[in-house]
Amino acid sequence: PSIFSANSRIFTPASPIEAENLLRPIFDRSEDADAQEVREAVREILYDVRTKGDAGVLKWASSLDGFSGDEKAFAIDPERLPVAWNSLPGNVREAFQEAKKRICDYHVSALSLLHDHLPSPGKAGFRLTPLERVGIYVPGGTAAYPSTVLMTALVAKVAGVKNIVGVTPARNGEVPPSILAAFHLSGVTEVIGIGGVQAIGALAFGTESVMRVDKIVGPGNRFVAEAKRQVFGLVDIDMIAGPTEVVIIADETANPRWVAADLLAQAEHDTRSSAILLTDSLVLAKETAREMDEMLGSLPRSAIATESISRYGYLMVVGGMDEALRLSDRIAPEHLELHVVQPMTLVPRLAHAGAIFIGESSAEVFGDYMYGPSHVLPTSGSARFSSPVSVETFMKRTSLIRGFGSPEEQESMVRMTALLARLEGLEGHARSALQRACLNDKETI
Ligand code: NAD
Repeated sequence: PSIFSANSRIFTPASPIEAENLLRPIFDRSEDADAQEVREAVREILYDVRTKGDAGVLKWASSLDGFSGDEKAFAIDPERLPVAWNSLPGNVREAFQEAKKRICDYHVSALSLLHDHLPSPGKAGFRLTPLERVGIYVPGGTAAYPSTVLMTALVAKVAGVKNIVGVTPARNGEVPPSILAAFHLSGVTEVIGIGGVQAIGALAFGTESVMRVDKIVGPGNRFVAEAKRQVFGLVDIDMIAGPTEVVIIADETANPRWVAADLLAQAEHDTRSSAILLTDSLVLAKETAREMDEMLGSLPRSAIATESISRYGYLMVVGGMDEALRLSDRIAPEHLELHVVQPMTLVPRLAHAGAIFIGESSAEVFGDYMYGPSHVLPTSGSARFSSPVSVETFMKRTSLIRGFGSPEEQESMVRMTALLARLEGLEGHARSALQRACLNDKETI
């Protein structure tokens, strides 16, 4: 029996600075002691893939994941995808279909808000185009996440990406049927059964059997995240995904059983996940701790959840809602749940979060599977400067520039452009502008 009690994670900081100091470990989760080792390991694998192509991929896929085929076995036969889909129980297919509908509806309406801005003469504008070839990484080292296929590949489809290649580890030669089924449902026919750093390398550099992509999207463990960081620039990436987290802001009216269940749902992901309650009620914090202890006993992944809670779990009692909101914005959580009387009134007061779940019935788990927005969200405080995976993740913008509005405008533009170009010592630039002059004496400018 575990000697851990969630009660030991109740904190009552006396000041804002004390609260921030208590939370410090969650900000350091990504840069732990073996970060340097991960960087070096990733560098070595990427080097092999870049210089040896398929042979480099094979070497690492076999040593890390027990892959035993040759490079022809990388690509999964597309005919296996509908077979995998049909092998799922009817009620599971129904749930996946409903999730697909909600994801597509949400992203189709998001796409409808994006418009090209075609310029009239003398104006500038822009055009949006989907990326041509995208790699979707679906993690699969320790568990299968078919929901992640839907939450990335369907978004790419809606955005208009024509070539989507799914990559996911084949552990001991097998990709889980639920993953193949989810690719089928998402309309992805090109699936490669390799994962980890070697898959990221193959997508970024291309090999004899894998065509390189323009962007790599999708979550993964720290090796995958570091590999994405190292290939960024050669290809685009969606984000560097770190360990996942939830913050729950709750008042004394919240249901401690629901709060406890939602904290544990986050903590069971991974030993570095973080689950944080910010409340102004000591009674709620104590009842939540009691519920957590009770639920942990029967949770199948209780070992992972206990380790995560004991290191990065907080039941923090603060002086009032203002302080709870301030701390939440400092954390900039991937997921933020509001279990308070009037949750909508808090929304405009919160600036930084990947997704906000408004009201205690909107548990994060519904966002993980069924609500439309992608569950691939900015983690580790990056919600301060980045956004969830969306149709824009799979699009790019081209500026459009179109002539002059009038001869007067043309004359003044030519003059000023030539002046600025000469200021920078670029006579060729100045002359290029002057070619367009409608002035009498071009040389006097
Ligand atoms: P993964 O596919 O990310 O990683 C597995 C691969 O890691 C293996 O194929 C192997 O090649 C490589 N690897 C393992 N040990 C290695 C080593 N020592 N050196 C080099 N490479 C090594 O699968 P995972 O490990 O199960 O991780 C999945 C992660 O994705 C979890 O952290 C999970 O929480 C996260 N996730 C996030 C979301 C999200 O939306 N944010 C969704 C699903 C999963």
